[in-house]
Amino acid sequence: ASLSRHLSTSTPTMAPITREADYLVLGGGSGGLGSARMASARFGAKAIIVENKRLGGTCVNVGCVPKKVTYNAAALAEAIHDAKSYGFSVKETAPFDWTTFKNKRDAYVKRLNGIYERNLNNDKVEYLHGWGRLLSKNQVEVTQDDGTKVLVNAKKILVAVGGKPTPPPAIPGAEYGIDSDGFFDIDKQPKKVAIVGAGYIAVEFAGMFNALGTETHLFIRGNTFLRHFDPMIQETVTNEYERLGVKLHRKSNASKVEKDANGKLSVTYRDEEGNESVVSDVDHLIWAVGRTPETGGIGLEEAGVKLDDRGYIVVDEYQTSSVDNIYALGDVTGPVELTPVAIAAGRRLAERLFGPPEFSSAKISYENVPSVVFAHPEVGSIGLTEPQAVEKYGKDNIKVYKTSFTAMYYAMMEPDQKGPTNYKLIVAGPEEKVVGLHIMGQGSGEMLQGFGVAIKMGATKADFDSCVAIHPTSAEELVTLK
Ligand code: NDP
Repeated sequence: ASLSRHLSTSTPTMAPITREADYLVLGGGSGGLGSARMASARFGAKAIIVENKRLGGTCVNVGCVPKKVTYNAAALAEAIHDAKSYGFSVKETAPFDWTTFKNKRDAYVKRLNGIYERNLNNDKVEYLHGWGRLLSKNQVEVTQDDGTKVLVNAKKILVAVGGKPTPPPAIPGAEYGIDSDGFFDIDKQPKKVAIVGAGYIAVEFAGMFNALGTETHLFIRGNTFLRHFDPMIQETVTNEYERLGVKLHRKSNASKVEKDANGKLSVTYRDEEGNESVVSDVDHLIWAVGRTPETGGIGLEEAGVKLDDRGYIVVDEYQTSSVDNIYALGDVTGPVELTPVAIAAGRRLAERLFGPPEFSSAKISYENVPSVVFAHPEVGSIGLTEPQAVEKYGKDNIKVYKTSFTAMYYAMMEPDQKGPTNYKLIVAGPEEKVVGLHIMGQGSGEMLQGFGVAIKMGATKADFDSCVAIHPTSAEELVTLK
């Protein structure tokens, strides 16, 4: 930061300033920060990081962090609703001030941006705010906000520039919609929203809006959402969303969007028979149809860095791109687009490039990465789905343990208020090694981390059973499966 402040007094016509670095990192998101900080603080490498937006990347600014805070608000709304069943005389619809909440959430994110900048200073990573472009396998040109250019000669270069929301399909009026970045700009509570998509983002947004009292229409192309998850999760959570009041439009494709004089949207959609219907008076339409790597304009082609047919940077298991010396990780490389994956990949790479010889083969394992969808209820998943396990081991070589029950939390509630809790454990071979765990129900997000450790260690069904249950919890069902 000090350098960028110093340079801002230079005039744009001056010859570019040249800097030398051991490690130049393009992208100040989770992966880039994790890697640059470790390279510098732990191994003494001269690291420079370049970011043109706010530090922290997608996760901190328009992803995990503000999403989870919003999810917490939604969970409180649900708890307030449930409190009556426990004898509290709270109003069922306690007013929620979206604008106040949004301003507090923005302030929190801003605080984090500052903390990230201080962390870079503490770890002696130089921060250039501007746009970086590869000129060769050893040189990056950084154009700072005021137009001044810095030429960095770097021994190693990491590209960790992340992704962006995939543009909507080409239908008339698609541009009236917003994407997941735009969700975080909504500054008053919408009465009615429409969301298109069936992945993590669509499902999380729909659940939060619905819990906070916004009429929520969710358009999915298939019969279920979260189609990469185990069928148990897909079916139960999709049905649960309908029970909770989300207006789910299955097997539907948005075909046209119109905006009226009051700024309200009408979304025309087609069902599988081709019949058209319209949802009108929509305050916001949100496209959540996937994410795309952000590779444009950073000199990848010029430097000879190969991209795959979906635009992701091709890397080997050590994050090395097709150009030795240039590395890439995180969402710009694709395999598992999760913050902790990018951080872990970044740290392993820093260890390998700058650490002592015992780290010479450090790399992240992309196997058994746990992940949670902050849906309603929460979903947790690690390892293979049942269809994947059948494909890998054969139907006769796996065994599936399942349970479906009503968590004790709902004991005080009327039958129509009770949500489902479903768990599935997939084991393989005679030793019954756990190869997949899929859970949905309250607390699944917190629950999965510990079970993830056991599964990473190669736990068997017998290991699960040998752990004494904690009673009364939902998690205990996982160590008593029959
Ligand atoms: P995903 O890739 O998870 O899901 C997008 C889905 O949208 C597709 O799978 C597809 O489902 C559907 N879709 C695609 N095109 C269209 C279309 N034209 N019309 C309607 N539906 C369409 O993307 P997300 O944007 O939800 O999330 C991106 C990534 O971000 C995730 O993969 C995840 O790695 C990460 N993430 C993680 C979170 C977490 O850890 N909790 C939270 C949020 C994001 P179908 O084929 O069924 O139609």
